[in-house]
Amino acid sequence: MRNLIVTFLSMIAVVFLVRTVISGKAEMDSFRKHEALVAEVNECLDAGEWNCAEKAVRELLSDAPHDTNLQMHLAIILYEQERYEECRNYIATLKFDSRDMKLLDAKVASLMREMAELGIERSMHFRVEFEGNLSKRDVMEALAVLEVAYDSLCRLFDFHPENKMHLVLYESQQYQGVGPRPEWVGAVYDGKLRIPVNVMEYQEVYRPMFFHELTHAFVRAMTRRHVPLWVNEGIAQVIDASRTGKPRPEGSVPSIEALTEPFVNENNTSNALRLYWYSQRMVEQLLRRNSDFTRFRDYIQAMGKKSPDEALQEFYGVTAQQLLDEVR
Ligand SMILES: [Zn+2]
Repeated sequence: MRNLIVTFLSMIAVVFLVRTVISGKAEMDSFRKHEALVAEVNECLDAGEWNCAEKAVRELLSDAPHDTNLQMHLAIILYEQERYEECRNYIATLKFDSRDMKLLDAKVASLMREMAELGIERSMHFRVEFEGNLSKRDVMEALAVLEVAYDSLCRLFDFHPENKMHLVLYESQQYQGVGPRPEWVGAVYDGKLRIPVNVMEYQEVYRPMFFHELTHAFVRAMTRRHVPLWVNEGIAQVIDASRTGKPRPEGSVPSIEALTEPFVNENNTSNALRLYWYSQRMVEQLLRRNSDFTRFRDYIQAMGKKSPDEALQEFYGVTAQQLLDEVR
């Protein structure tokens, strides 16, 4: 859906360029007003501020009610705000039906159907989507655990994310509840929290898993900048606590570079385990210097303005290499 928005924004720019040419001096003021509104739409969409985007798009639409590009925008904005019924009603009033509009309508329809089937109300802090055949019990339990985890992280970091978190609850194909307890169940954070819900019977697995991925989501909500991977994976493991106190894995000490780049490039499991182990230990060393998680939050947020090394120096008076040397 994000791609759609980007495509349509570039179309808006084109439309208004043409208008400059045809408009006389008298219309210049109204053109400037439009230009400002378009810029506002861009900014609001970038920040995920759907209310302000909606207001600006509606104002643009009042001057150009048949602009299909603006209509598509409004439909997407309603969808993003979880105003599903309104979104479908709006689409139904439109004269044009593009492939994209049909896709959006179908997506909203299936979301509404699933929420009705599962008997699910809107969640407080999550915007939920579903993939696969989920049982109501699992979904409700997953949401309950996630809300509790969300509250604890808000308190821990004294931080309240501005926007709802995008959550995809899915049915994991690999674990249908038979066989031995899964070691790894495939939760991911990639901008959306992707959580398998048919693992809910394995309490000792899903609690740390939810806390871990949710921590990544909080780090993302604190800064849009790239955070060194040892910081991100380290704090997520400290909070999920599932590997705390594990003995040092065999093999050589990883380099700072290897600990900074995304671990997903690491195909070798034992290498990956070493990277995770050192990450957690390095963050534990940070917290030993100052155990206040709000300081950790400030450190993460400072990376928006400073390099990761400068921020580390300022908030903990240490370099990544020093931390690594302490735990090797
Ligand atoms: Zn992680």
